[in-house]
Amino acid sequence: MEAKNMICIVCPLGCKLKVTKNDASPTGYDVEGNTCFRGAEYGIKEMTNPTRALTTTVTIYGAAMKRLPVRTSGTIPKHLLKQAMEVINKVEVKAPIQTGQVIIKNILNTGVDIIASRNIYQDSFSLGINLLVINNLKEVEYAYWRWGSCF
Ligand code: SF4
Repeated sequence: MEAKNMICIVCPLGCKLKVTKNDASPTGYDVEGNTCFRGAEYGIKEMTNPTRALTTTVTIYGAAMKRLPVRTSGTIPKHLLKQAMEVINKVEVKAPIQTGQVIIKNILNTGVDIIASRNIYQDSFSLGINLLVINNLKEVEYAYWRWGSCF
């Protein structure tokens, strides 16, 4: 009989669960070791369609910080986490950014967005430093394309 031991991560209590396949059960599984119903839901979901929230950062320009914290607006299938990171790692954004602003819409067709986790204000001083290192026309054109009207 298919069974799996796991730790429930829904709350800090961290109950040790044992989830066993049982075709006679209405849910298709028996869950042992859970202290509340959320543990049973978690255990069954881990067996059928495990999902996770993702938190990470993306590159940001025109701000005092170099990285913008972002997160998923919901959970995405666990097996898509690596692919999602590949998409996220290609993204560069420009300040200002508002908390909750959509950075990537419907990532990997999951129906979940990647959103900003905090406000980031434009920092003209850091833009100025960037301009100082520009030393030929090609780089000026690239900078104009990247920063647009802030340049
Ligand atoms: S089973 Fe309930 S009490 Fe135990 S860790 Fe999960 S959510 Fe927390």
